[in-house]
Amino acid sequence: MSETESKNFIELIIDKDLAEGVCDTVQTRFPPEPNGYLHIGHAKSILLNYGLAQKYNGKFNMRFDDTNPTKEDVEFVESIKEDIQWLGADWEDRLFFASDYFGQMYEAAVKLIKKGKAYVSDLTAGQIKEYRGSLTEPGRDDPYSSRSPEESLRLFEEMKEGRYADGEKVLRARIDMASPNINMRDPVIYRVARMAHHNTGDAWCIYPMYDFAHPIEDAIEGITHSICTLEFEDHRPLYDWVVRELEYPRPPKQIEFAKLYLKNVVTGKRYIKRLVQEGIVDGWDDPRLVSIAALRRRGFTPESIRMFVEMCGVSKANSTVDYAALEYCIREDLKAKAPRYMAVLDPVKLIIDNYPEGQTELLSGVNNPENESLGTREIPFGRELYIEREDFMEEPPKKYFRMFPGNEVRLMNAYFVTCTGCVKDAQGNITEVHCTYDPASKGGNSPDGRKVKGTIHWVCASGAVPARVRLYENLIDEAAANERGAVYDENGELYLNPDSLKELKNCYLEPAFGKAAAYDRFQFVRQGFFCVDAKDSGPDELVFNRIVSLKSSFVLPKQPSV
Ligand code: ATP
Ligand code: MG
Repeated sequence: MSETESKNFIELIIDKDLAEGVCDTVQTRFPPEPNGYLHIGHAKSILLNYGLAQKYNGKFNMRFDDTNPTKEDVEFVESIKEDIQWLGADWEDRLFFASDYFGQMYEAAVKLIKKGKAYVSDLTAGQIKEYRGSLTEPGRDDPYSSRSPEESLRLFEEMKEGRYADGEKVLRARIDMASPNINMRDPVIYRVARMAHHNTGDAWCIYPMYDFAHPIEDAIEGITHSICTLEFEDHRPLYDWVVRELEYPRPPKQIEFAKLYLKNVVTGKRYIKRLVQEGIVDGWDDPRLVSIAALRRRGFTPESIRMFVEMCGVSKANSTVDYAALEYCIREDLKAKAPRYMAVLDPVKLIIDNYPEGQTELLSGVNNPENESLGTREIPFGRELYIEREDFMEEPPKKYFRMFPGNEVRLMNAYFVTCTGCVKDAQGNITEVHCTYDPASKGGNSPDGRKVKGTIHWVCASGAVPARVRLYENLIDEAAANERGAVYDENGELYLNPDSLKELKNCYLEPAFGKAAAYDRFQFVRQGFFCVDAKDSGPDELVFNRIVSLKSSFVLPKQPSV
């Protein structure tokens, strides 16, 4: 890292730890609970942890935090791995499951009991809550806290052997019932739960609680900096207590940062699950969602997501970012990378009356004026073309420079043409637009210095590639959400935008698109960036997702300060 580059607050902590010998390497981890698909917020955490490991020449671990047997699902394990790999975070050979440490966690609990730092309690969940007190009142001692280590050890072993029903006994850490921090009032660290686990099956009927398990997982793996989000700030004293009482020689350090939120965007699993179940979206990877799978399917690149996450910065203060910032990043990434071809989304025929019938020719087009290495291509041209319906108007308003009777425009890469009129059906719909061309303007260059104000794109009717194209808007009705300041109403119903998906079924693309394969990205000239839909596109019909239009109202923000 260069000296001039500004560091985020986590890097400053790491620098200090390295300088003071608190640690001599950096090891981070990403610890998702496999209970849903990862979203853009998780991408921030992944790239932050992986990025730190890279910057400090350290290591990045992938760990499934699967200590809670009620929620986990094998399907999610696979999707999470795929998403992280796609983002480019490499865990090398360090893929771990917290459930592999159940044996060590059990031993850790035994150690605490022997030290007099944990005891088995017979209080019910309700009683524990009652004894815990509140923010204003201290807690009361658990009547079982005076149990001897010997008795607690025997009972804990019996819990493990399955002698007690769910909830009959728990293991609690003995800390301080009067602590101002409720998390420190003798938290439960082990509970009985007769549930099969996706990894360990029926081997265990007691399971560790998150606040006890997580620091142990970190310590076992040699994590130096355990980065999590702000809601765990109040749990940090407990994290520190666990690693201290278990006497790990190099205790990991927990550091919290603010979650990433996108304005008027749903990320909550509960909502997304419902949208999927009710068929409002086409699965967890519907391109209108911001799960990593959905962003990938829509056409976002890992580079654009990295740029976005870097732009957001790392901070301790919660903030909400506009979706437009994400759009800015994908435009930036694709503008020089993606070939720019012509596609007509809402076609009407254009007939060039003075172009010889039956004749075609090949014209040449630059694939991307910002990137010479993408080369040129041949574009067939003939008497009948498709143009956008909106590029012709019989009676144009002021400042309309496209096709209207009597007006001359440039057909991109082709010729100057002068509009002569149109043909309509019985209902008055325009079925054909007519024009004549100037053979001397080949390539779209003026033959005599005369100027045209409009340049429009087109596709030759013969050889045109048919396609379906999906245009997206926010799934959420932004006006309603802005008014209420939330994406859902008082009953918890999402404000849905009825126009979030529009499918255009009769689009025509120039033949250069013919070989397009899943995830290929293009700029459709004058329209936006589009990606071949990996789920629905096939050899018989191409289906494209609009990633983003070309227009932007987004202004690059100043780098947020910590
Ligand atoms: P969600 O409820 O949105 O799925 P979660 O916190 O329950 O999020 P986990 O699987 O527990 O999901 O999280 C894995 C890691 O990702 C944690 O370290 C968590 O702090 C981090 N994380 C989750 N959401 C965000 C977010 N919006 N921004 C940044 N990091 C996040
Ligand atoms: Mg969670």
